[in-house]
Amino acid sequence: MIEALKKVPRHIFVPEKYRKYAYVDQPLPIGENQTISAIHMVGIMVELLELEEGMKVLEVGAGSGYHAAVIAEIIGERGAVYSVERYPRLAEMARENLRKAGYKNVFVMVGDGSKGLPEYAPFDRINVTASAPEIPKPLIDQLKDNGIMVIPVGRIFQELKVVRKRGEEIVVENWGGVSFVPLVGEYGFKD
Ligand code: SAH
Repeated sequence: MIEALKKVPRHIFVPEKYRKYAYVDQPLPIGENQTISAIHMVGIMVELLELEEGMKVLEVGAGSGYHAAVIAEIIGERGAVYSVERYPRLAEMARENLRKAGYKNVFVMVGDGSKGLPEYAPFDRINVTASAPEIPKPLIDQLKDNGIMVIPVGRIFQELKVVRKRGEEIVVENWGGVSFVPLVGEYGFKD
């Protein structure tokens, strides 16, 4: 995980204006009132996901594309990341950043990621980078058996949840308090 964080050129994913803060461990604005997560948060989530080479990963909230790049670094060229973003302008920026940084196995789509991406499901792992009112049912459905999803839940008081699917059983663990922008969509918040 540390190796992946060292490898991904974060300055490429940070808007020009904030570039000198690219390696400071804090969230930064990326436009549309959204933020690129702090480096430590990306590290924590990536570790909780227990990624392995060759995995197929769904990300909800592409933002700058940075988090997806760190995941792509770990799963390698045999793996793939499908990342959904609701703002077309951010999706375009993420694609451009990922292209500049040389990641060819991250596919950024525009849409409501709270519904997942049924056409590419099921996924080994799901990484949600915006906070949901509750764990969206479509995301649980699109997780493979033995799959893991990491998702912040809550509006003001938020907790990072680690969701494991074991057959019919869904095991949810709390990692602790976090702070993310809201997940806005059909299975998210309404504004
Ligand atoms: N992973 C990003 C962090 C982006 S912040 C990075 O590394 O930069 C969370 C993102 O989730 C925002 O860009 C926001 O627009 C997006 N988002 C919020 N609700 C969404 C939804 N329902 N579907 C897709 N994206 C959503």
